[in-house]
Amino acid sequence: MIQEKGNLSINSENFLPIIKKWLYTDKDIFVRELVSNACDAVTKLKKLSSMGQADIAEEETFQIHVTLDKEAATLTISDNGIGMTADEVKKYINQIAFSGATDFLQKFQEKSEEENEIIGHFGLGFYSAFMVADKVEIDTLSYQKDAQSAKWICTGGIDYEMEEGTRTERGTSVTLFLGEDGKEFLEEATLYAALKKYCSFMPVPIYVHMTEEEEEKEEEESNVIHVSAEEAEGITSAEDAKRLSEQKQNEEPKPLNETNPLWLRQPKDCTEEDYKAFYHEVFMDMNDPLFWIHLNMDYPFRLKGILYFPKLVQHMDVTEGEIKLYSNQVYIADNIKEVVPEFLLLLKGVMDCPDLPLNVSRSALQNDGYAQKMSNYITKKVADKLNQLFKNERASYEGFWDNISLFIKFGCMREEKLYDKIKDSLLLKTTDGVYETVSEYLEKNKQKHENKIFFVSDENQQAQYIRLFKEQGLEAAILSSPIDKPFVSFLEYKNAGVKVQRIDADISDILQQKEEDKNEEDKKAEQIVNTELENLFRGVLGKEELKVKAEPLKTKQVSGMIVLTEESRRMLEMKEAYGENDQMKMLFAHAKPDETLVLNSNHKLIQLICDWKAKEEKKEDLDLLCHQVYDLALMSHKTLSPEEMTAFIDRSNLLLEKLAEMEK
Ligand code: ADP
Repeated sequence: MIQEKGNLSINSENFLPIIKKWLYTDKDIFVRELVSNACDAVTKLKKLSSMGQADIAEEETFQIHVTLDKEAATLTISDNGIGMTADEVKKYINQIAFSGATDFLQKFQEKSEEENEIIGHFGLGFYSAFMVADKVEIDTLSYQKDAQSAKWICTGGIDYEMEEGTRTERGTSVTLFLGEDGKEFLEEATLYAALKKYCSFMPVPIYVHMTEEEEEKEEEESNVIHVSAEEAEGITSAEDAKRLSEQKQNEEPKPLNETNPLWLRQPKDCTEEDYKAFYHEVFMDMNDPLFWIHLNMDYPFRLKGILYFPKLVQHMDVTEGEIKLYSNQVYIADNIKEVVPEFLLLLKGVMDCPDLPLNVSRSALQNDGYAQKMSNYITKKVADKLNQLFKNERASYEGFWDNISLFIKFGCMREEKLYDKIKDSLLLKTTDGVYETVSEYLEKNKQKHENKIFFVSDENQQAQYIRLFKEQGLEAAILSSPIDKPFVSFLEYKNAGVKVQRIDADISDILQQKEEDKNEEDKKAEQIVNTELENLFRGVLGKEELKVKAEPLKTKQVSGMIVLTEESRRMLEMKEAYGENDQMKMLFAHAKPDETLVLNSNHKLIQLICDWKAKEEKKEDLDLLCHQVYDLALMSHKTLSPEEMTAFIDRSNLLLEKLAEMEK
């Protein structure tokens, strides 16, 4: 072959500088591009052979070798695939117009940088090598009969050289002479991490050779024999040790990748152990997943994958899932919001979508409805799995609930279609420690309160109310995580006619004796007492707006409690959350808590207060008692401020002191 020089037919001289710009994002992407080119070269050859257009020996094994030579600062990716003739190199490599690179360049120039976020930066192709290399060499021999090998050398400008190659076996070797920008890939760990990230499931076995390390190893092995503990047990003589050492050296090297990943297999061929092992390896999570869904769709587009429901780590509030996106076994990226439905981002999983147009921008991808179709399909699969668990394995489903409820609630609110499909499998965990669906809860409690769901938002703080509830044979749903705030409103919106109320909202209805039990006279007397008590407490506490009423509650243990209407409490919560916003400030300017202090007329302390309220000589003690009753009621309703708490403690001490004095 005559040596030839030329320049790459690129429309713009900006090409390489632009490619280099990616350096600052995912520099390691060249690994994916070059190794997947090598895989493609093998796939193409296999295809030709299956069509009878290429001769391959039956015992032929296809392999990719990645070799790092630290001393020479080179990285070589070598395959025994289809190879290229000199003409093909000119066509496919020189005329960049044929590869995705030009497209990429055009898009990059046309659009603003934000818009140009191409998923996984696909389309960069072969030229991504120049992100890390100062010089690139291709040495290739085509599969075609009597083909001659060809070598292509390019030093990163737009000039190239071609000459006769040195390859004697079919295939292609691409050698990168790593420059300043790529020197980190001379580190075995960095290179290995990039290979693991992008190539772990590529379809052709990949062998990695880190020259220096291997030499060191060989040297070591000739001097020392490494044995594991189990192996050591079996060694009885020097002879055995020698045999073992030889055996180790003859062991077949293991490829870096799994060429037939679990998600591509038929679900019926995968065991529980397979799913768990895959999960542990890919997500580096020591815990077993709770359960999983094997996705396998062919129409209207291909999608294969496995979604795992992970066990929540208790001490972490934020759950960040990990959905790895692949295209034909080539890793693209994690958690791409434009492709993966948002609600899935709390799960872990792999999704292989070979039909995904990866060379378009993120926004285009979102707009072409692909993401929506995918979301519909996955929503259906997730719903089917949850419903099936609910129907057929209720006990384990309940066992999973605490772990999966965050995902489910988030999912239902984000994707109403999911809610519509699984609404009958949604569970409420109750203060009785059982799990019930909304309809089971309503049915069970309908004698006591109709169409109302009571919930607890803080089990510690509302312990008093929970006890009262239990004493009355009532139960409330525990909705105490941050997601439950919006979920409560969502539940109400979805269950027309059902009121969802916090346990301390208006429960006096439930805890007080029925009105019918009282006669007219009783009622009148009560009214007078109520007015007197209200005036007393308002005066003592200095709270002009406070409503007070005395009720004979069904318990004797509680002196009083604060009751705040559900609407009023929600308004206050919103004020807390958005109060800093100017527009909201106007809205909340008139929002006052509609708070009632309900006093238990069955409680001795309240009876004493009623007794003393007209006695001038008791005024001082009466003040103390009123404050104390109010604070006690307040405490099971909200957290006291530091000032309130200090006053409460001082007063408690004072009261006890008085008690001690009485005993003297
Ligand atoms: P793409 O892979 O997206 O087509 P690339 O720029 O990566 O774009 O590669 C351009 C072309 O060069 C490929 O389509 C292929 O024809 C050829 N090529 C690249 N690497 C190899 C290889 N290892 N073996 C054979 N052909 C290759």
